[in-house]
Amino acid sequence: MERARLVIIGSGAAGWTAAIYAARAGLAPVVLTGTQHGGQMTIAGEVENYPGFEAGVDGPKLMEQMAAQAMRFGARIVSDTVVSVDFSRRPFELLGEEGAWAADCVIVATGATARWLGIPGESRYMGRGVSACATCDGYFYRGREVVVVGGGNTAAEEAIHLAGICSKVHLVHRRGEMKAERILRERLARLGNVAYHWNSRLVEVHGGNGVMDPVTHAEIESLADGSRTRLPVDGVFVAIGHDPATGPFKGHLQLDDAGYIKVRPGTTDTGIPGVFAAGDVADPVYRQAVTAAGMGCMAALDAERWLVSQE
Ligand code: NDP
Repeated sequence: MERARLVIIGSGAAGWTAAIYAARAGLAPVVLTGTQHGGQMTIAGEVENYPGFEAGVDGPKLMEQMAAQAMRFGARIVSDTVVSVDFSRRPFELLGEEGAWAADCVIVATGATARWLGIPGESRYMGRGVSACATCDGYFYRGREVVVVGGGNTAAEEAIHLAGICSKVHLVHRRGEMKAERILRERLARLGNVAYHWNSRLVEVHGGNGVMDPVTHAEIESLADGSRTRLPVDGVFVAIGHDPATGPFKGHLQLDDAGYIKVRPGTTDTGIPGVFAAGDVADPVYRQAVTAAGMGCMAALDAERWLVSQE
């Protein structure tokens, strides 16, 4: 078993930012990257809302640069996926697919993944019309028609955001009403450019045949009578929830009902001294690269202070 002062689990915006701060603080962090180096940004394509890049930045490129920045200050990068942990005694123990680690301090930054419908055309047109983040990609569809799928708070918020940018928003939900909070439903009801398609499901996303061709329309099906309708949309926003990557931490950290790690508000403190959480794995609300990076910074500072307090 290898020994480290600080192990950071996860290699998205939160993990890399934590690594940069921790490395510069002399904590010699080890980053266990997981299988998807760079996290969700690796499928983000062009990112226009990460501050500091006036002309936008390629998501994977941004992650590569963060990794290089962390390595420049001495972070060690290990390609391994954590499968189980023991936070009941110190040093904490982390078991990966490839190796085992004993750590004085741990930052969990394993992220979350958007749920997808698994329908024809969805993965094919991802990044060319299909998205799971209206805040990230809505601007690409300004003045155009889009569809949002889902009935929870995320779907409601995405539809409200998109209605402010797009000419028309089609909201497709498999039930006859949304389960989103009342205040969001009321806000949505006041908007004049939202069309509701209740008791319906999105069955296919259509687009051009070329490899770079975008979405041209979406097909929905009524669950009442099976009839199909073509929606003339350029953007398809799937908002049916996210799955935080907390499998190895169940029973070891406090999770909320949706599986996100609970942290003490305003901190990255998980309730177990020496274990901190940052980014989407602990954030069901904002889920942005920049907020994840911010939390990564907070976690590194929390970890540094905690380690110093122990010495
Ligand atoms: P939710 O799990 O709350 O909602 C998912 C929605 O997608 C549901 O309406 C569900 O339908 C629908 N859905 C799920 N699977 C499918 C499928 N295969 N096909 C079609 N529809 C499907 O996820 P959210 O992302 O909306 O929210 C996650 C958590 O984050 C919640 O606790 C939420 O309250 C919170 N949140 C809070 C916000 C805030 O406070 N401002 C903002 C955003 C999220 P059905 O209704 O039939 O189950």
